[in-house]
Amino acid sequence: MPIDLRSDTVTLPVPGMREAIINAPVGDDVFREDPSINQLESIAANLFGMEAALYCPTGTMSNQIAIKCHTQPGDEVICDSQAHVYIYEGGGIAFNSSSQVKAIEGDRGRIKAEQIQAAINPDDVHRPRTSLVCLENTSNRGGGSCYDLNDIRKIKDLCSENNLRLHLDGARLFNALVAKGEKPRDYGEIFDSISFCLNKGLGCPIGSVLIGKKDFIQKGRRVRKVFGGGMRQAGFMAAAGIYALEHHISRLQEDHDHAQQLAKILSTKNFVEKILPVETNIVIFEVKPPCTAKQIVDKLHEKQILAFAISANRIRFVTHLNLTPENISLVANVIQDL
Ligand SMILES: *Cc1c(COP(=O)(O)O)cnc(C)c1O
Repeated sequence: MPIDLRSDTVTLPVPGMREAIINAPVGDDVFREDPSINQLESIAANLFGMEAALYCPTGTMSNQIAIKCHTQPGDEVICDSQAHVYIYEGGGIAFNSSSQVKAIEGDRGRIKAEQIQAAINPDDVHRPRTSLVCLENTSNRGGGSCYDLNDIRKIKDLCSENNLRLHLDGARLFNALVAKGEKPRDYGEIFDSISFCLNKGLGCPIGSVLIGKKDFIQKGRRVRKVFGGGMRQAGFMAAAGIYALEHHISRLQEDHDHAQQLAKILSTKNFVEKILPVETNIVIFEVKPPCTAKQIVDKLHEKQILAFAISANRIRFVTHLNLTPENISLVANVIQDL
C-alpha cells in the first residue's frame, strides 16, 4: 500500500469503527426513525451547545443547505476568495441558492471584520442584498490555518449589527479546536450554523453534520430532501460518526505532530522555496524553480508516496489517522534523499 498524503478523505475505518457500523441499530431516517442518526444528531447538537443537528452525506451538502436556508435569490454571500464554498462546490451558491459571492482576499483563507465591513452592500436597490458571511476553519487552501477566536467574535458583532447570518464551514473544525485548545461550545455560541465533516480526519467513510437553531434545521431537513440527501438506513454511517466523535478527536494532535515533522525536514531542503506555517494537519510548500511541483510529486510517487500538486509550484501533504509514526519517518527519509 502506498503512503497516501493526498488528503485526510482517504482514511479507512479502523476495526472499532467497522464493529460500530455492523452493530448499529437502524431505521428509516426520512421517517426520523433511525436511532443511530437521531443519536448522532443529538450528540452533535449537545457538543456545540446548539439546538439541533442534521446528518448529511457530504460536507458540500451541509454547506449548500446552510447557504440555501440563510439566503434569498439575488443575495450576496461574503467569504474568502479561497473558500471551499466558493471555489470547490461546483458553483453551488449560484446553482442552488441563486446568490452570488463577494470574495475577499484574506490571510491564508482567513478574513477580518474590517474587510467584511467594507464588503457589506448599502441598502440600495442597485446592489445585491448582503445576507450571509461564511468562514472556514481550518482553511483548506490556507494550509490548515486556524482563526483566532477573538477575530471571529468581532465578525459576529459586525454580523449582528448588520443583520447578517454567520455560517462556519468547519469541515476540519476539530483540527482547529485541538490545535487551539478551544471548545465546541465556544463556536456554538457564535455561529448561526456550523457544518463539520466526519469523512476527513475523523476517519468515517462518509458524512457531515450541520448544526444550528431548531427552525433552521427543520428548514434544512426539507432542503436536504430536495437536494436528494434524505437517506434511509444511513444509521450504519451515523454509527461510524458517533464512534469518531468518541475516539478520534483528541488523537488529531498526532496528525498535527506528524505534519510538523514533515515541515521540519522540508525546511532543510534546497528545492523548497517556502513552507506555509503549519498549524494543523496540512503542509503546503512551494518548490524553487526550475524544479516543478509535478517533478517532486512524480519522484515521491516512484517511492510509493502519494501527494497532490495543488498548483504548478505548490505541493500539499495532509496527515491523518491511517499514517503511523513509521510511515512518517519513511516519508521524511525519502524527502531527505530528494
Ligand atoms: C472537504 C471539505 C468540504 C466538504 O467536502 P465533501 O467532500 O463534500 O464532504 C467543505 N469544506 C472544506 C473546507 C473542505 O475541506
